[in-house]
Amino acid sequence: MAADKIPWQTARIGAIASVTPRVKSFRFEGLAGRHRAGQHVEVRLTAPDGYSAQRSYSIASAPGDAAGLELMIEGLEQGEVSSYFAGVAEVGDEVELRGPIGGSFVWSPEDEGPVLLVGGGSGVVPLLAMIRARFAARSETPMLLIYSVRNLAEAIALDELQVRARDAPGFDLTLLTTREGATAGRRIDRVMIETALDHVGKPRHVFVCGSNGFVGSVSDLLVDAAVKPGIIRTERFGG
Ligand SMILES: Cc1cc2nc3c(=O)[nH]c(=O)nc-3n(C[C@H](O)[C@H](O)[C@H](O)COP(=O)(O)OP(=O)(O)OC[C@H]3O[C@@H](n4cnc5c(N)ncnc54)[C@H](O)[C@@H]3O)c2cc1C
Repeated sequence: MAADKIPWQTARIGAIASVTPRVKSFRFEGLAGRHRAGQHVEVRLTAPDGYSAQRSYSIASAPGDAAGLELMIEGLEQGEVSSYFAGVAEVGDEVELRGPIGGSFVWSPEDEGPVLLVGGGSGVVPLLAMIRARFAARSETPMLLIYSVRNLAEAIALDELQVRARDAPGFDLTLLTTREGATAGRRIDRVMIETALDHVGKPRHVFVCGSNGFVGSVSDLLVDAAVKPGIIRTERFGG
């Protein structure tokens, strides 16, 4: 169904948790989600004077997660919608949601792999849903996440990702901090992409998500590394 034909539904915020200094998690009650990992929802906020604004947010939770649908939203200074979530939203608030939306940026365990995921900043959110779906299904499909963040404090779900990389057979994490530690000043480069490809194996699916610039440069590196453009799926968050 076309996204604009999906009806809006009212959803109540059931829980809010801090994920990083700039990102909060929002759980919506009663929406366990018949989505596929990688999909997003649209969120609409309406002011008392009737002015409304809507934005897209990726679903962080695995399909069927009993704790409810989870979104992870980065608060942008002056951001019309994200600043509401960063500073105003409270448990019990109701917002309008519609979805799930997105037909190509999706992965399910039965799609198998190997799977290469490349995320920048909050662009890891839909990739996290894929990692969670793989874990929930006890899949051992080879999957590797390259995750680029400015510093460790800004890494979303870092503990969860590190535990999966340690314990989940076939899942690996390459974490790049671009503004601190030994990799300060480095960006995802061809060597990193080729090392990841050697490790995970010839990929069947590649998903890249982040800001416009991030997605563009990573896609170019993948093509330079002889990944077929047809298997590279991208999601651009803006910025
Ligand atoms: C399919 C899809 C999924 C998305 N999923 C998520 C998600 O899971 N979590 C999340 O936090 N965001 C996500 N986004 C981004 C989100 O939709 C909004 O664009 C973002 O929250 C900014 O909206 P705003 O109203 O707060 O800012 P606006 O008022 O629209 O913009 C404020 C300022 O921020 C700049 N800006 C807008 N978007 C970004 C951005 N992404 N990064 C940096 N600067 C930006 C604008 O150019 C402007 O200068 C997703 C976007 C898409 C298209």
